[in-house]
Amino acid sequence: MNIYDVLIIGGGPAGLTAAIYTSRAKFKTLILEKMIVGGQVTTTHEVENYPGFAEPINGFLLMDNFQRQAKRLGTEIITGVEVKSISMSQDIFEINSNKDTFYSRALIIASGARYKKLGIKGESQYIGRGVSYCATCDGAFFRNMEVAVIGGGNSALEEAIFLTKFVSKVYIIHRRGEFRADKIVQERVSQNSKIELLLNSVPLEIKGGNVVEKIVIQNKISGDMRDINVSGVFVFIGLDPNTEFIDPSFIESKDGYLIVDSECKTNRNGCFAAGDAVHKSLRQIATAVGDGAVAANSVKNYLEKLGI
Ligand code: NAP
Repeated sequence: MNIYDVLIIGGGPAGLTAAIYTSRAKFKTLILEKMIVGGQVTTTHEVENYPGFAEPINGFLLMDNFQRQAKRLGTEIITGVEVKSISMSQDIFEINSNKDTFYSRALIIASGARYKKLGIKGESQYIGRGVSYCATCDGAFFRNMEVAVIGGGNSALEEAIFLTKFVSKVYIIHRRGEFRADKIVQERVSQNSKIELLLNSVPLEIKGGNVVEKIVIQNKISGDMRDINVSGVFVFIGLDPNTEFIDPSFIESKDGYLIVDSECKTNRNGCFAAGDAVHKSLRQIATAVGDGAVAANSVKNYLEKLGI
């Protein structure tokens, strides 16, 4: 049986940081990643608030640096592995996946979160035919067209600004009268002539033929319904944690987010969690990186107690 000292589920900023630390401490470290290494950040065109970069850096490039750093220090990374369940026997974690079964002495769950879906009529039907959750990936398909962005957080406003590089107009449709995005981003939105705000408005349905042609919205104050003609609908309404593979009786969570203490320890001895999958107030690259370092340090203390 090939037993890793540390197995990390998820290759985003939290998982890669943890791996950099555990690899430097010479623990045999494996990252399992379902999709591409780097996580959600890889779909962000420009990262402006991760310290150390005086100019904005492309999210994919930033995460490529994380990955190369971890690999240089000895981290093994396997992609295309979707973890299905975790169990533990005699202080060894057993991680079952769509491919193999993996074993480790310590476990860090850094499986992140994914963009939430609106759940309205037409949304699923038009994914890939006008409905998107990634402006960096799909923005260029909408050159000189009009699109809608749904949401009022940092993702919605930042991605709306990014989309104005391609499209002729962006409607930001937000369910309240004020945004929760950072003030600096709100200022940039208000100065962008290609952006029109549709506030206090909820999306009801996405309509079209073969591709998206319109979104139906309702004003919450007047009750008026309105069709907005758009070719694309970009949805940025928050995140859902990627923790479905974890039995809540095995690791404690709240609304799917894993509960950890200040040392990133879960209720399960030897199991730690870091990044967006954790129950916390601020989900940023910087906080994921901080969690990753703390979780790695806790792993080090745990493994040293086991005499490893
Ligand atoms: P978020 O901050 O949770 O904002 C979600 C937005 O979607 C809110 O405005 C919310 O409205 C709206 N919303 C939620 N459910 C909705 C529904 N069913 N229908 C319509 N609107 C709905 O999510 P996010 O923007 O994806 O960001 C996630 C996390 O990543 C946040 O912590 C954010 O700060 C962070 N992030 C940071 C940066 C950065 O620092 N540069 C960039 C991107 C993301 P209400 O406001 O009414 O609740």
